[in-house]
Amino acid sequence: MDSMTETLERTTHVRRAKIVATLGPALDDRERLRAALEAGIDVVRLNFSHGDRESHQRRLDMVRDLAVRLGRNVGSLADLQGPKIRLGILPDQGIDVPTGSEVTLYPGRDELDSYVSEGQTALPVVYEALARDVQPGALVLIDDGSIRLVCSRVENGGVVARVVAGGIAKSRKGVNLPGVEVSAPSLTDKDTADLKVAVELGCDWLALSFVRRPEDIIEARQRVHALGGESPIVSKLERPESIQDLEAIVGASDAVMVARGDLGVEIGPERVPAIQKEIIDEANAEGRPVITATEMLESMINSPRPTRAEASDVANAIFDGTDAVMLSGETAAGRYPVEAVRTMARIIEVAESSPHLVHPSPPPHSEATLGRVVAQAAVQVAKDINAVAIVGYSISGSSVELVSKYRPTMPLIGLTPRKTTLRRTALMWGTEAALVPMKGAATDLTTAAERMLVDGKWATQGDRIVIVSGRPGGQGGTNRITVHRIGDPVGD
Ligand code: PEP
Repeated sequence: MDSMTETLERTTHVRRAKIVATLGPALDDRERLRAALEAGIDVVRLNFSHGDRESHQRRLDMVRDLAVRLGRNVGSLADLQGPKIRLGILPDQGIDVPTGSEVTLYPGRDELDSYVSEGQTALPVVYEALARDVQPGALVLIDDGSIRLVCSRVENGGVVARVVAGGIAKSRKGVNLPGVEVSAPSLTDKDTADLKVAVELGCDWLALSFVRRPEDIIEARQRVHALGGESPIVSKLERPESIQDLEAIVGASDAVMVARGDLGVEIGPERVPAIQKEIIDEANAEGRPVITATEMLESMINSPRPTRAEASDVANAIFDGTDAVMLSGETAAGRYPVEAVRTMARIIEVAESSPHLVHPSPPPHSEATLGRVVAQAAVQVAKDINAVAIVGYSISGSSVELVSKYRPTMPLIGLTPRKTTLRRTALMWGTEAALVPMKGAATDLTTAAERMLVDGKWATQGDRIVIVSGRPGGQGGTNRITVHRIGDPVGD
């Protein structure tokens, strides 16, 4: 037995931070998916950089069916590719790009007839405006920076570049242009089509890649609403511009992701740890859920155990105050997807029971809304009266989200009459949730909360609970705190 297992067996801690896991071929087997859900997946991520409508639909249907059978509340996150620049298609063995040579990049091309042009290596790049955006001296990074080029000149519509670090270029690998203002629209034609699919599939969250401005989020939200959808928007922070304008972008988003893969390529991996803390602090101050993502247990793609550095990385994200941590290739394409989820859950549980876990209350922001004041007060009341649980009743989910941000030490149970809200709460730190019929009066809500907590063994006769809500029957506007003792008469 390894030491992490031993530690876990001595703790009775119930995990509070959430796990997002990317779906892919590694979880296509139903029994394996069942095991991974049981191991602790809270939200599944559909990565629209790969797969088609049929594969996303099939995977999501299987998740929803298993979640019902397992009695688990599992949310879904549709992750749009965004204006990701990629190489086109190359021969299977790849193309050698030797250090010191010159290559020509051909913009807007999916394939080339020949990968040698006038004695130089030639590579297709699917992005049309490459030659317009890139100036001589600009860095061009291929495959997460493993191949590095410097643009020498733009000539006959192609970008001629010197290779400063060579390697084998493979089909469809990513191309990053650090420091270059990329002119591509934030929602590409593919994103527009994928967004429609995500709305039709009823995905609970929609992630936007390479967000640069608050307007990118506003535009995506309008498109979702125009299609009759309502998925809240998760901004993936991976471009330098989004870090420069962090407060406005977090403010315009419904949630954010520290997308450390592209972020590390764009700004350098050495800057990622401090920026991760900055993003998490800003998201907590703004009351938005934050996901920390990418390479968290990367070695588990090929190994049943994490490295010590990976275990530290997951734990440190928890100590930083993240709401959720994410698995990418580990669960989408790795050899040990179930073990990766189980390992991540254990690391979180042990980190959360450690004395190093400090959850500074989100500071009162300059524009503290009434909802935030009420949520903070409810958590304080619950602590002061030794309440066994806090119940957040919410149609939109906002009351639950607000309470979650004040990190109550007691269980937080979200009650909602809406299935979409129920599944959305799966991303929210420390939140369990259940469906209840619509409540039109405070007495009905108190009765329903009491029944739910007693049936779920969260509370027994004489225990105190705190209920946070807006006006029952109304939507939005968290403005009520009710203190109730289980078994006491309920009356307005
Ligand atoms: C990332 O770059 O860290 C990320 C999460 O995005 P993707 O996996 O879509 O490249």
